[in-house]
Amino acid sequence: MTSVLWFRRDLRLRDHPALLAAAADGQVLPLFVLDPALWGPSGDVRRAYLLRSLRALDADLGGRLVVERGDPVQVVGRVAERCGARRVHVSADAGPHGRRRDEAVERALAADGRELVRTGTPYAIGPGTLVTGAGRPFQVFTPFSRAWRAHGWPEPAPAPARVRWVRDGGEGVDGRDWPREPDTGVALPEAGEAAAHARWASFREHALAAYDEERERPDHDGTSQLSHALKWGELHPRTLLAGLDGEQGPGAEGYRTELCWRDFYADVLWHRPETARTYHKQQLAGLRYESPGSELFRAWCEGRTGYPLVDAGMRQMRGVGWMHNRVRMVVASFLVKDLHVEWMHGGREFMHRLRDADLASNMHGWQWVAGSGTDAAPFFRVFNPVTQGLRFDPDGEYVRRYVPELRHLPGKRAHTPWEVADGYAHGYPERIVDHAHEREVALAEYARVRRGEG
Ligand code: FAD
Repeated sequence: MTSVLWFRRDLRLRDHPALLAAAADGQVLPLFVLDPALWGPSGDVRRAYLLRSLRALDADLGGRLVVERGDPVQVVGRVAERCGARRVHVSADAGPHGRRRDEAVERALAADGRELVRTGTPYAIGPGTLVTGAGRPFQVFTPFSRAWRAHGWPEPAPAPARVRWVRDGGEGVDGRDWPREPDTGVALPEAGEAAAHARWASFREHALAAYDEERERPDHDGTSQLSHALKWGELHPRTLLAGLDGEQGPGAEGYRTELCWRDFYADVLWHRPETARTYHKQQLAGLRYESPGSELFRAWCEGRTGYPLVDAGMRQMRGVGWMHNRVRMVVASFLVKDLHVEWMHGGREFMHRLRDADLASNMHGWQWVAGSGTDAAPFFRVFNPVTQGLRFDPDGEYVRRYVPELRHLPGKRAHTPWEVADGYAHGYPERIVDHAHEREVALAEYARVRRGEG
């Protein structure tokens, strides 16, 4: 019997439970659907990376990947009918859109006597699995992470003994008419499963031991830079966790914790899908904000705020489609608490520009900074962009890498051009706001809402 394996956020062939299930059915037709509902709002960087990842998968499949454009509710059934498949295998999607879409596809397939079979998820532990002792969803990371470790995760899925891939005989785009890759001007890393494994192997060998300290340094290459590979499932977090087995040092512990954050945010969104767009803590919905159409917002987007760490981060995102985690927190805090622009506008800009843009990690990362998210990151914690720069980029290397107008300033001076006579000699903009003042404005607004005047 032939079945369809519909790839989504699992663009790999190793450690793939849904592939194992499909191979057990007989011949397998590999399918990817370019869904306008997801393709349309994606930024060019995400589109370009996805196309490269699909090309890599297609090469691994010997050129057999069927790529169709259209609404999966129609396309998946059409492809299944064409190849006579009774079953369509997928890795379950946990996101709000994906869950709705899959239910609609499942209904459409069932109407034709076909079945949608979900095996595995893109997470170490499937969202919705873990609950508190009282049977409620977790709201706070630390107890979730305890439950996550106690529960454990399965071993990586073994490779199927043999997969009989089949070629599509229909009218699919089928490798000859894929969408053209947008010209992004962004330096993207190599895509695909093999490249992801190579990056992981190199990170394990050279950087894992020191990860716990180095992960805070944007000037160093101290993190795995695997977020885009995890987003598209070029490798599975379970593969990474298995690779950490037996490693007890703070580096491996720290890395497990970061993978747990990824599972945590997916779990939160699974229980409360509306929090991709609305406040997790409703009390903070009463804060007053500036219009996102303002010149200040544009300056932030383009890395022209006059605060070197903020500008370096925003330019890093524009240049390579990725930003260091510490800097993501600083630029997010700056937008919300110095420029008083509501978090979801920054969240959208990130979704548009990041190669690893992921609804759960991104929107909850933003809510965390804005104080409206799951954990105890209070609104009154306002990052100082200058002291953060001096602390985490002490020699100014990160800033000079992304802000050419500051390259003439040696060492930490790159963080304070206003203290140097020739600080603005190469066209770097002056600070668009006064951090100390805006911090007071944000705190006063927060106090107003706390008094119940929101
Ligand atoms: P590493 O330090 O090597 O961590 C390993 C993996 O753990 C990452 O690849 C990622 O999958 C996961 N991880 C690490 N930190 C976090 C975290 N705080 N939350 C959730 N998962 C984490 N991550 C995304 O994958 N997509 C996003 O769209 C995204 N948006 C963010 C927005 C904001 C405002 C903030 C503060 C954080 C955001 N993050 C996002 C989390 C984090 O910044 C990135 O996962 C990390 O920088 C990716 O780099 P890395 O792969 O080198 O991470």
